[in-house]
This record gives sequence, structure tokens and C-alpha cells, in this order.
Amino acid sequence: MVEHVVVIGAGVYGAAVSAELARRGAHVTVVDGGPPAGGTSGATFSWTNSCGKQPRAYHDLSVASMEAHAKLAHDVPGSDWYHEGGNLEWGGSDGECERLRRKVAMVSSYGYEARWLTRAEALRLEPDMNPAQLPDDEIAYFPAEGWIEPTRLIAHLFSTADLERIWHDAVTEVDVSGGRVTSVLLASGQRLAADAVVNCAGPQADHIAGLAGLDLPMRNTRGVLVYTSPAAVSTSRVVHAPQVHLRPDGAGRLLLHTHDIDGAAQVLDTGEISVEQTAVDRLMAAGRALYPGLGAASVESVRVGERPIPGDGLPVLGRAPELPNFHFAVSHSGATLSLHAGALVAAEVLGEDRTGELAPFRFARF
Ligand SMILES: Cc1cc2nc3c(=O)[nH]c(=O)nc-3n(C[C@H](O)[C@H](O)[C@H](O)COP(=O)(O)OP(=O)(O)OC[C@H]3O[C@@H](n4cnc5c(N)ncnc54)[C@H](O)[C@@H]3O)c2cc1C
Repeated sequence: MVEHVVVIGAGVYGAAVSAELARRGAHVTVVDGGPPAGGTSGATFSWTNSCGKQPRAYHDLSVASMEAHAKLAHDVPGSDWYHEGGNLEWGGSDGECERLRRKVAMVSSYGYEARWLTRAEALRLEPDMNPAQLPDDEIAYFPAEGWIEPTRLIAHLFSTADLERIWHDAVTEVDVSGGRVTSVLLASGQRLAADAVVNCAGPQADHIAGLAGLDLPMRNTRGVLVYTSPAAVSTSRVVHAPQVHLRPDGAGRLLLHTHDIDGAAQVLDTGEISVEQTAVDRLMAAGRALYPGLGAASVESVRVGERPIPGDGLPVLGRAPELPNFHFAVSHSGATLSLHAGALVAAEVLGEDRTGELAPFRFARF
């Protein structure tokens, strides 16, 4: 019988899995080598969406996950870490417009809400956008999308669950005996006996799997996020414009990103990561072009996050057949997925059959 579960990692996945395990009555110890939310979950765009996720099972998991966020926010008074403001998106070239048309057609055929707006309609939603930056029409609007503030969600999940928490003490060994994990060793020398272990180590999930003798292929990538100073600009949704992606980030700040800026992060000889200033300036200029009210805003901070991406791009969820009490909860899009996917994993840890939902995402496919 599973009584004591060790959860490795205190990002959105570790928080979601731990909270659900505790809710179901397990004795849970969650361990992190740093502080909670100190990994990718603290440096993410955290757009909740199922916008173009393939195959269909991945789309459905994402939709169920968006619903889980909405439900939690509905059930918890004051849960203002969740923002269902919708997402606006348009293309800047014929190729991008065509890709967007295909995406809208595909998600609509799945029953996912997507509408086409004219410029005037988009400006009614986001009145501070510069009309000259918008096309006349073909602006896609996905009303059920939004974003979360992962650090505040993590704080809520940990603060309301009955858990043992160990921070700043990394897992250095996973002990396996008789085809089962028996304990984990921490850097401090403390050994935690475990009936089950859940690997929620995000970009380091391959390392933790390796400690248990399992080979998890990962192809992580770095992402650069630019946070502005507070500005008196009205924004209340996610916007994907051709040159800049942005969303509000609290107290008047905006969070800016594009895929182009990700290449501007470089690892220095010291091991530190630096981001080319010209790329940051370009992104701010694109933000100001779209929202002229950002004119006086400055760059408050630049953060670099590492996307935890399993080798084939799909989530890795559930138990490892070789080691039936060792479980995975690892994916990109974890801001969207973790609440629901983490609950599925927790249910399986405690013996519930969640094969239907987890089958497409099992570690066994590697
Ligand atoms: C730039 C960027 C943009 C993104 N945009 C989106 C988006 O729009 N929508 C979306 O849904 N997702 C997005 N993501 C992905 C999403 O943020 C991640 O999937 C999610 O945060 C991963 O959470 P996690 O809990 O798995 O990992 P993490 O938050 O990294 O947590 C893992 C934890 O494990 C700990 N750990 C590692 N090794 C050990 C060890 N040996 N012992 C103990 N602890 C250990 C780490 O310290 C860390 O705290 C984005 C990511 C990036 C970088």
C-alpha cells in the first residue's frame, strides 16, 4: 500500500501532484534543491491554451487542463492567479496568415472556441492597441484562453495542503531494490524512505530518471522573457502579434516574448546566461509600436527559463513499467497542463486506474 510519497520538484507540477496526493490522504514529502517556484515555473509566459496542440489526445488533455484551472479559480475565493481573458492572434505574412487559418479550422473542428474578428472588434477588446499595427480583419480570437501566475498558484497549492516540505536540499541518489524505488538520498545526507516517488523535476527530469536507472530523452530549449516597468496601458488578455507576444503581468507590468528573442540568450564562460541588449531593445520597440502607451516604460527585468521538453515533444505522465512505483509528471506547456495532469498522476500513484487518459503519454513509448 502506498503511504509515503516523495515528490521531487516544487514547480507547478510538483505542487499540483503533491496537493492532490495530500487531498487523497497520502503522507507526502516534497523536495526541491532550491526554493519552490525557483525553476521554469518562475520564468514562463504561462499562457493557458490548447492552440494547435497535436495529436488529438494532447489537445484534449490541454482542454481538460484549462477547465481544471477555471474550476479551481471558481472554487477558491480570491484566486486571482488565474486570468481567462482570451487570446488575440494575427499573422504578419501570407505564410503566417495561412498557418493561422489552418489552426483555426483545426481547433474549430475539435469544438474549441475560435472566432475571427475585424480590426474594430479587436480594438473593442484591447482599446490601447495601435490600430495601424492591426490588419483589417482575420484576427483570431480564442476566448477560453488566458494565463496563470504560476508562483501564486504554487503558493496556494502548498499552503492549503498538509505536506512535509524540504527546500534547498537536492535529491542526489534514488535507491532501487527488487525492481522498486525504496528511498531517495538528499544532498544534506538525509535519506527519505518512499513507497512511491514522483519525478517533477522539470528540465532536470532526465537527471532524476537517470538516478533511477531510466533513460528519459529531453530536448530542452531556453526562452527569454522581458518584463516592463508598470505603465498605464489597458491590457487584459494575451496578444500574439507578428513581432511581439505579450500579456499583463500584474500592477501594470507587461510580459513580452517572441520566439526570435530566445536565440539571444548566451551562456558565458562563467556559466551565467546573458541576453543581447539589442534583442531586448527590439522587442521593447515592437511592444511600444503595438501599445504606444508603453512609450515611457522601461525594462524592469529579463528572465531566462528552460522549457522541459521530452524528446518527442509530448508530456511524460504516469508510472514507469520497469519501476512501477516511480512516476513521471514532466512536460512543456506545464503552466496549462500541470493542475489536471498532476491530479491524474497522483490518482495513479495511489492505485486508481487512469489508463484511458494517461495511455498516450506513458514513459514506455521511449
Ligand atoms: C520562456 C517560456 C515560455 C513558456 N510558455 C508557456 C506557456 O505559454 N504556456 C504553458 O503552458 N507553458 C509554458 N512554458 C512551459 C512551462 O512553464 C513549464 O512546462 C512548467 O513551468 C514546468 O513546470 P515543472 O514543475 O515541470 O518544472 P519547474 O518549474 O522547473 O520545477 C522543477 C523543480 O525541480 C527542482 N529540481 C530539479 N532537480 C532537482 C533535484 N535533483 N532535487 C530536488 N529538486 C530538483 C528544480 O529546482 C525546480 O524547482 C514556458 C516555458 C518557458 C521557459
